[in-house]
Amino acid sequence: MRVVVATGNRGKLGELTAMLAPLGVELQPQSAFGIVPPPETGTTFLDNALIKARHAVRVSALPAIADDSGLEVDALGGAPGVYSARYAGEDADDAANNSKLLAALAGVSPEKRSARYRAVIVFVNGSNDPNPLIGEGAWEGRIALAPRGDGGFGYDPLFELPDGSSTAAQLTPARKNALSHRGAALRALLAQWPPR
Ligand code: IMP
Repeated sequence: MRVVVATGNRGKLGELTAMLAPLGVELQPQSAFGIVPPPETGTTFLDNALIKARHAVRVSALPAIADDSGLEVDALGGAPGVYSARYAGEDADDAANNSKLLAALAGVSPEKRSARYRAVIVFVNGSNDPNPLIGEGAWEGRIALAPRGDGGFGYDPLFELPDGSSTAAQLTPARKNALSHRGAALRALLAQWPPR
C-alpha cells in the first residue's frame, strides 16, 4: 500500500518509515507531491493531525498518515504543547526552541521539571473517510538542566528519561521508537490495521 506521510519533519519521517516498512507500507513524503503543509489551526493534537492528513489526501489522492506531537512541561502549565514546533517563533529552529525552554525553566529544580511528549497519529483512507484510524501515545520524562546527545530531533537533547540516565538524543533510533510517544501512538494505530 502506498501512503503519503503528511510531514516535512525529517526526524518524524525517519521514525515512521522505520516502524512501517516491515508491514509492507510504502511511505512517500508529501514533498514528493509538492504538497505545501497547511496552517495548523487546531487547538488539539488530534485536530492538527487530521488537518494535515486530509490536506495530503486531497492533493495526492492517496491515503495519508499524519502525526501531530509536542512537549508538555508541567512547570509551564503544559506549554509548549501543540505549539512546540513554533515555541520560539513561527520560523524557530530546534536550537531556538531548546534555548527558550531552558530559559523558561531557569531556577526550577530537577524534581519540578516533569514533562511528557504526546503524539497523535491518524490514517485517512480517502478524502471523505468518515472513520479515520487514530492512535495516541505519551512518554513521561523531565527536562534536563543542559542538553546531552546528538541523536533524535527537536527537544530530544533536553528530554531526560525519568531515571535521569540519558536523554532521548542519547538513545539509538530503535530504543527511542520502543519507548517514545510516537512509537506508542503508531502501535495503537496499527492495532486497528488494516483499515476497513
Ligand atoms: P508538529 O507535530 O509538526 O506540530 O511538531 C511537533 C513538535 O514537537 C516538533 O517540531 C518538536 O519540536 C516537538 N516534538 C514532537 N515529537 C518529538 C520528538 O520525538 N522529539 C523531539 N521533539 C519532538
